[in-house]
Amino acid sequence: MMEFIDLAAQQERIKAGLDRRIADVLLHGKYILGPEVQELEAELSGFCGAKHTITCANGTDALEIALMALGVGAGDAVFVPSFTFAASAEVVPKQGATPVFVDVEEESFNICMDSLERAVVHAAEIGLQPKAIVAVDLFGLAADHPALEQFAAKNGLFLIDDAAQGLGAKINNRMVGSFGDITTTSFFPAKPLGCYGDGGAIFTNGDDLAELVRSIRMHGKGTNKYDNSRIGVNSRLDTMQAAILLEKLAIFPGEIERREKVARRYTNALSDVVQTPVIPSSQNSTWAQYTLRLASNTQRDALKAYLGENGIPSVIYYPKPLHLQAAFQGSPADPEGLGISEKLSQTVLSLPMHPYLKAADQERVINCVCAFFADK
Ligand SMILES: *Cc1c(COP(=O)(O)O)cnc(C)c1O
Repeated sequence: MMEFIDLAAQQERIKAGLDRRIADVLLHGKYILGPEVQELEAELSGFCGAKHTITCANGTDALEIALMALGVGAGDAVFVPSFTFAASAEVVPKQGATPVFVDVEEESFNICMDSLERAVVHAAEIGLQPKAIVAVDLFGLAADHPALEQFAAKNGLFLIDDAAQGLGAKINNRMVGSFGDITTTSFFPAKPLGCYGDGGAIFTNGDDLAELVRSIRMHGKGTNKYDNSRIGVNSRLDTMQAAILLEKLAIFPGEIERREKVARRYTNALSDVVQTPVIPSSQNSTWAQYTLRLASNTQRDALKAYLGENGIPSVIYYPKPLHLQAAFQGSPADPEGLGISEKLSQTVLSLPMHPYLKAADQERVINCVCAFFADK
């Protein structure tokens, strides 16, 4: 049976190193904030070119801590794309602030600058204080951070990059992790860089901001854990997970190249029959997902069913945009609507994508997609 994401193949490759790393942790017994956590934070900073890396318990906490560190609170508007995973927006009302939904671009799946501009004007009109943007690097493709940085500076907004799917992505060879004020990521097992449980990290180039983030993640500590300067949270990456991530990070750049190869094979074989992902020439995707756009909802659902009948897994990310979710009912949005987010949720389909997808298996996926369209 073909896997949508094959974590076992990766484990087989790095098993010896993992065993060694895990044995080390069992031996020294520092299960919380042990030496592997610091080692990983240093390695991650080197990997993505961020001055500071602070690990935490998961990608949602990373976003929440980022908002806390930036002082987001009641009366503030935080601009979030509607076509993303719920965590990107869920953290906003938790701080007492208001998520304002922004539409995405059809080709990149990422936040649309025109829609963002309208949403910021609208937020001010309804009496909110425009405060921050959460830009998501959806499916592994970085949002247009150079444009977002300019827009944020011009409008006095903070820029947070939700890189849960985009760690390892590049714009003009600059790695995700160093754009905006703060970048957050997730090490959930199915993300491009995942551990064997929950995990997350926060990246920033700001010294004061990094200090604040370190304090917030440990109960708002001052000089030590029993000196509390502010209200914080308890959000740590386990030493065991850090040890596992050190082994995985070592092979991550090579895995991104493998993903790129898989993506290229899909695109070469399928771009004549179906709308394949579009990656701007200035960018490198980390290929968290390989996502097709179908002509209609009926066609998408039919293709998904056909693949399933032939033993090929596929997933819809995401079947409902956030502004249509009950949880976010009544949230403000771009006054011109979020038509692209609605359309994409009806028409996207993600194909099996991971660094160890065998050429023969990929051939089966490709043949099946082609057979579906030949039948029409
Ligand atoms: C997975 C994900 C998160 C949340 O990460 P967790 O580690 O599961 O909390 C946030 N944003 C996006 C875009 C994600 O894909």
